[in-house]
Amino acid sequence: MNLRFSERTSGIKASEIRELLKLTERPDIISFAGGLPAPELFPIEQMAEVSVKVLKEDGRAALQYSTTEGYVPLREIIARQRMPKAGVSATIDNIMITHGSQQGLEFSAKIFIDKGDIIICESPSYLGALNAFKAYQPKFIEIPMDDNGMIVDELEKALEAHPEAKMIYTIPDFQNPSGKTMSVERRKRVAQLAKIYGIPVIEDCPYGELIFEGEVYPSIKSFDTEGYVVYLGTFSKTFCPGLRVGWVCADPEILQKYVIVKQGADLQCSSMAQRETAMFMQQYDLDEHIAKIKTIYKIRRDIMLQSIKDYFPSEVKYTCPKGGLFTWVELRKDLNAAQLLEEALKEKVAFVPGGSFFPNGGNENHFRLNYSNMNEQLIVEGIKRLGKVLRNYY
Ligand code: PMP
Repeated sequence: MNLRFSERTSGIKASEIRELLKLTERPDIISFAGGLPAPELFPIEQMAEVSVKVLKEDGRAALQYSTTEGYVPLREIIARQRMPKAGVSATIDNIMITHGSQQGLEFSAKIFIDKGDIIICESPSYLGALNAFKAYQPKFIEIPMDDNGMIVDELEKALEAHPEAKMIYTIPDFQNPSGKTMSVERRKRVAQLAKIYGIPVIEDCPYGELIFEGEVYPSIKSFDTEGYVVYLGTFSKTFCPGLRVGWVCADPEILQKYVIVKQGADLQCSSMAQRETAMFMQQYDLDEHIAKIKTIYKIRRDIMLQSIKDYFPSEVKYTCPKGGLFTWVELRKDLNAAQLLEEALKEKVAFVPGGSFFPNGGNENHFRLNYSNMNEQLIVEGIKRLGKVLRNYY
């Protein structure tokens, strides 16, 4: 075939790792690769009831076209119930429903980024966001992290050196992939820097409510007095990712841009899925559901960390996340996690090699482990097998 694809997409290559990770869908593989919630915790019976009720009570509207901004009662619930948890007071005029926060990421790049523009992000950062951004041909500046998240002094230096940068992208809570969390002090400073430099912050928050102990951290948006912060929320990790319901919370002027690009992309999210999500939250207590899944994820985190301690060579470093779904492993500098994956797959265990979480390359000596999707017994067995692979190198 001799088709002329756009320059935009020619830069995006299918990754070899993705091909390898297709193997992880085999049922005999213990996979720590995906970022999947535990399916046994989905509220299937309640959703069956809710779906029928939506169709019986509001079927014509649920199957009809609707507005781009989204179903008003759902936007109200998000504004009144979810955003205050992140310390943000919002109204429906700040909320647009998206197909997961992934769509919010794609739209953010579409709205703010022209070819060659600079995006500042954490190092490492979420692979799915980096791939979405890459279609808009940006340059990336990576800001190193420590145990308190993105090192904000380094962010400030990058902004001083590149005041023309167009967007800051951050995942402040239990970050994907590192599991690290940004301190409250740093969140305040990021909001201040956004104002000083007149740069939008895309704050991606799928994991904030999955904190294992204590209260949800105040978001960067909660310190945003001028509207520079765009908050991306989602029900994917706290409820059901298959419904594909997320949201953008932003200043109405910025939100209008998101509405315009969504009209061009897909007109609206599913009228049915939005009503099902809203009705679940009217009939049941989402906080109760979140409390239940957090209890299980905390047990799984503890078991994974204990197994790493028991079975990995003691020189291997790893993070101890206080919530969310991932821990992040750092190997000796000369080791390559992508090569290691091939060996791990022979032992029927999988993870995601870390290199692709660094937009400018390098850092192949890392990998990401997910602990939410496998049961306790499989976590112990999988980590034991990985330990065996690792011990060949230590
Ligand atoms: N952002 C981050 C940091 C994620 O980890 C994910 C899912 N893995 C997403 C966004 C996208 O989630 P969704 O589109 O399902 O809301």
